[in-house]
Amino acid sequence: MSATEHGFQTEVTKLLNLLANSLYSNKEVFLRELISNASDAIDKLHFLSLTNPDLVKDDPNFKIRIRADKENHTLTISDNGLGMTLEEANQHLGTIAKSGTEDFLKHMTGDAQKDSQLIGQFGVGFYSSFIVSDKVTVLSRSASAKSDDEGVMWESAGEGTYTSGNVPRSQRGTDIILHIKESESEFLDSWRLRQAITKYSDHISVPVELYEEKYEAPKEGEDDKEVKDAAPKFEYVQVNDAKALWTRSPKEIKPEEYNEFYKHLSSDYQDPLTYAHNKVEGELEYTSLLYIPRQAPWDLFNRDNKHGLKLFVHRVFIMDEAEQFMPNYLRFVKGLVDTNALPLNVSRELLQESAVTRKLKKALTKRVLTMLDKLSKTDDYKVFWSQFGNVLKEGPVEDYSNRDAVLKLLRFASTTDNSSEMHVSLEDYVKRMPEKQKNIYYLTADSYEAALNSPYLEQLKQKGIEVLLMWERVDEWLMGNVNEFDGKKFIPVTASDLELGELQDAEEQKKQEEAQTEYKDVVERFKQALGDKVQDVRVSARLIDSPSCVVAENGARMTAQMRRLLEASGQKLPDERYILEINPSHALVVKANAEQDAGRFASWAELIFQQALLADQGTLKDPAAFVKVMDSLLLG
Ligand code: ADP
Ligand code: MG
Repeated sequence: MSATEHGFQTEVTKLLNLLANSLYSNKEVFLRELISNASDAIDKLHFLSLTNPDLVKDDPNFKIRIRADKENHTLTISDNGLGMTLEEANQHLGTIAKSGTEDFLKHMTGDAQKDSQLIGQFGVGFYSSFIVSDKVTVLSRSASAKSDDEGVMWESAGEGTYTSGNVPRSQRGTDIILHIKESESEFLDSWRLRQAITKYSDHISVPVELYEEKYEAPKEGEDDKEVKDAAPKFEYVQVNDAKALWTRSPKEIKPEEYNEFYKHLSSDYQDPLTYAHNKVEGELEYTSLLYIPRQAPWDLFNRDNKHGLKLFVHRVFIMDEAEQFMPNYLRFVKGLVDTNALPLNVSRELLQESAVTRKLKKALTKRVLTMLDKLSKTDDYKVFWSQFGNVLKEGPVEDYSNRDAVLKLLRFASTTDNSSEMHVSLEDYVKRMPEKQKNIYYLTADSYEAALNSPYLEQLKQKGIEVLLMWERVDEWLMGNVNEFDGKKFIPVTASDLELGELQDAEEQKKQEEAQTEYKDVVERFKQALGDKVQDVRVSARLIDSPSCVVAENGARMTAQMRRLLEASGQKLPDERYILEINPSHALVVKANAEQDAGRFASWAELIFQQALLADQGTLKDPAAFVKVMDSLLLG
């Protein structure tokens, strides 16, 4: 053979080092990965053989075999699946053939525990072999190979380089030969292997066979001793029942089996938060098995984040990442759908256009929402919300038909809850509303702290009206696109009209009207001084401790955060003109109004206006000018 030495892609070397350390406590996962890969390779070939039966005719019975060889200290995992060409072996085993590798490495923290979770999500798969091996040899032959010289050997000690080249090989499929480290001899032990393999292959739909010593009962006329002294005989024994998990009855499946299957499907190393397994008969027949992960993938908000379900037709694997069955806001859902209602040769394009796909998507979306509703009644929902809440918030806008169901699943912080964790549902809020309250009040800000201390809340707090507090990027967009929940309008507390009407008693209303007349002159002075900079000046009904705030006519004011975001994306935004609200009983406003000199009053007005902007937006267009005005007033 003409083997060539190659250097691993740098990322691979880094990962290998990391792996050796971080997965140390859970070494046997390499078996899961290798069995999983073998099963994937068989699924892929099975699929191709639907249209090209010749590919499998010489060896039609798919299986995975595992054999320990104590003498040579090797463990071999073999499959008669798709196999690899030399190029494929170099590409798939020598590089990380997935997008976003760079991103992944940037996310590494050096904290072994955190990183190993990341690795889990990343699906480092094959490389886990090096946890227990000093050397790994891969022998393979692609199902598409025409002759025996197209066999492939790939070999590495997992330290920076690998060698690969063509070798003769007569049968298709792959042998992964692990040269087991001296310290890991347990993995050559039949009993130990059986225990681990059973766990990882119960849900696999092809036979998994382990090479074991054959037990033979003494025959007639033979005594025990003779049997013992005879050379041990070995044979392949099937260890799983090779029935695809989802085809079994949910009643017979243990939670551990569901969890293992999830790990096989998702390359996550953690158990899922919850799952739902449904078999539906009737007009549209399908089986679905859907999982909610415990942790968001690091690329959840990455545009080319791959997602979607595995699609099976008549129990035959058809494709991965079929995103047509889930709306985008549920892109974190993992799992599969198996249906008889689609043709075996369905392509992504056909899926896109198929009415069956649309029906399935609708049904599966409902299933996920029901599953989340159930989860929302448990403690685990907090975990879910912290990981996926921001994605779910895309739902009410993306999926009009399920708007209310998704809105019910959202959680917010609020002025009554005293926590930056979001616990409050809209139903909670509505239940707590005083009878006279008609609207749902909310505030968007740049951070929880900014929201909590916002001057806009002063009156509402005093009146005991709960306000939902929001500070995530997606919030402003969400609230800009939904109008109501349960017949109650959403009103931002920055709106010029809070529609508090019925909540104020007659006396308060009267006081406020009086205030408008009483302070007419102050308002007029502010208007004069500020001119075009403001749209209007009014006496505020919402302030208690703060001298001033800015509001927008219809409440459609943009937070500074949103503005920065839009500006960064190259949009030109007109300067916003606000309504300035003043608190005439505040000492600062009183002091300003006592100033007779027009020039100095203008400085006070400017200061009070800029303060309102600063409190609202956290930054000013021209901070130096603000400082100058302030200094001139401080110096008297
Ligand atoms: P993943 O399975 O998530 O793609 P792995 O690291 O486990 O990542 O495997 C990398 C790639 O190597 C696979 O996608 C596949 O192309 C190839 N591969 C691994 N094992 C086998 C096998 N037994 N037969 C064929 N191809 C394999
Ligand atoms: Mg894999």
